[in-house]
Amino acid sequence: MAVNGISRARMSSMQLFLRCFCALLCGSAIAGAATEPAVPILLYHRVGPVRADSMTVTTVHFKQQLDLLRTNGFCVIPLERFLAWRLGSGPAPAPKSVVVTFDDGHASVYHEARSLLAVNGIPVTLFIYPSCISHASYAMTWDQLSELAATPSFKIESHTFWHPNFKQESKKLDRDQYEAFVDNQLRKSKAVLEEKLGRPVTLLAWPFGIYDTYLMSRASAAGYTAAFSIECRAATGADPMMALPRCIVSDEDVGPRFLRFIENAMALGRN
Ligand SMILES: [Zn+2]
Repeated sequence: MAVNGISRARMSSMQLFLRCFCALLCGSAIAGAATEPAVPILLYHRVGPVRADSMTVTTVHFKQQLDLLRTNGFCVIPLERFLAWRLGSGPAPAPKSVVVTFDDGHASVYHEARSLLAVNGIPVTLFIYPSCISHASYAMTWDQLSELAATPSFKIESHTFWHPNFKQESKKLDRDQYEAFVDNQLRKSKAVLEEKLGRPVTLLAWPFGIYDTYLMSRASAAGYTAAFSIECRAATGADPMMALPRCIVSDEDVGPRFLRFIENAMALGRN
């Protein structure tokens, strides 16, 4: 099947070339590495032809950002490679490693971002809240999400069941109700995604980036091995596994500003 006019065979050879090229760059970077890894984990939500809201990155700027990463020697690595290092089962990421993630399950990931990610050989993790899938008008369908899940460069993980604001819910509910609510949001999302997509779900993105020690302990108890917040600094070996920082990319992060955004995140991670 063609993706935006590009045959699968041609895309595979392009992906292979880009991965080999990236591996060469990363390999040479590793040889000179002396500092502790600090990996910016980029967070996107929507990609579209027009900037509909502050969470939309226009397709043209998204393409430009991916091009800038490649032409400036950054390697987009799978999130699981960063986590393998954190868990002691893999080597340290190269100094200019970056991770790409998307939250929420917006249909534009399927319609706009997918082909750009594929032709650039970019691995990506999608954090999905299942209540919106095949329900909300802006969201992907289960068929679309299943198609992405079957693509090796896409990983699907959890963003709770219906994207609650845990801070607000803790004020509305009594203690018992709140604890049951938290467990349901964490466990139902994992169970539904695993059942629908037929593969394990072990990672969690906190809705609105909200977390605390109680939530982190409940996420561990629910079977998550790592969770992600929203704080614009690179993730390092010092960050807690249940609150690894991610940086929201905006449509204004273009050209040199995008590169400064990445470099600032790496500098802040090392501070
Ligand atoms: Zn979200």
